[in-house]
Amino acid sequence: EALRAALAQHLAPRAPGRHPATRKVYTAEEVHAAIEAGQLVNWYQPKVDVKTGEVVGVEALVRWQHPTDGLVFPDQFVPVAENGGFVHELTRVVARAAVIQARVWLDAGLKLRVAINVSMDDLSTLTLADHMIAETSAEGVPPQHIQIEITESRLMRSVTSVLDQLIRLRLKRFRLSIDDFGQGHSSLAQLRDLPFDELKIDRSFTHNAAHDGRLRAIFEASLNLGRMLGMDVVAEGVEDRDDWDLLAEKGVTIAQGYFIGRPMPADALQSWLREWEARLWQDGLLPQDHD
Ligand code: C2E
Ligand code: MG
Ligand code: MG
Ligand code: MG
Repeated sequence: EALRAALAQHLAPRAPGRHPATRKVYTAEEVHAAIEAGQLVNWYQPKVDVKTGEVVGVEALVRWQHPTDGLVFPDQFVPVAENGGFVHELTRVVARAAVIQARVWLDAGLKLRVAINVSMDDLSTLTLADHMIAETSAEGVPPQHIQIEITESRLMRSVTSVLDQLIRLRLKRFRLSIDDFGQGHSSLAQLRDLPFDELKIDRSFTHNAAHDGRLRAIFEASLNLGRMLGMDVVAEGVEDRDDWDLLAEKGVTIAQGYFIGRPMPADALQSWLREWEARLWQDGLLPQDHD
């Protein structure tokens, strides 16, 4: 019975209703043209401090504003750019917009760390570090305000140039984050060898961990591992109140997920911030003994 349920869950679509029934397959030419036409736009999802409720940063998540198909999600075009060998062009557009946005927020008095997602190819082509250094100095954004999230499954093809890029970025004080932790195969080796500041526990281990002992074991082990290595630990996929309460109980530093806020256009952030402040008190989201 349990096995049947697990299987059914495994086979079910991941985010029902999020994508149109007919998922269009885009060609490399279409995606490339979209990048050049400026049709990609960053949405931002908040990351909050679990103890204080403070918003510590946002993650830039790219969307394609397709002229006729509407908003297209990254899983439908990022892999196309990766396979087509031009994902570095996408990364440049995303990084540039993120750095400019970080500047806008800094000018508005919002000290938000802005995270971008990068692909393995960006790190092996030996240009990401130069590019990030150039972009941040052009906008006068301190590199410690920019975070670079790397998915470990993509890190597995590790080569020396990758390590080189990461060390250069780290020396310049960019923040490095290991994304979707637990989903790859060589996570422990990556943690041993690479200079990360932050570990993001994959959302498949966060949501429902309060009700599932196996998930909770993996969740807590990842949390402790990150902490023992002196990293910030982020739990992604915080979808409900029970998820949130578990983080507070276990001492996770940072939370991200639909319960806190969905990805949103940059200009929606200020009003989300006001709603969040109100919710913190109205819903009693902070630990009672705080202060
Ligand atoms: P990710 O970096 O792990 O980003 C988190 C994804 O989980 C986002 O999906 C976000 O909308 C979703 N998410 C956040 N909170 C929740 C939650 O509580 N529940 C659930 N079920 N989902 C949640 P999105 O925006 O569709 O991005 C998917 C992936 O696409 C990202 O995963 C990232 O790997 C990739 N991606 C996004 N933007 C870029 C980019 O600019 N460059 C590259 N190379 N990859 C990107
Ligand atoms: Mg990410
Ligand atoms: Mg992630
Ligand atoms: Mg993920």
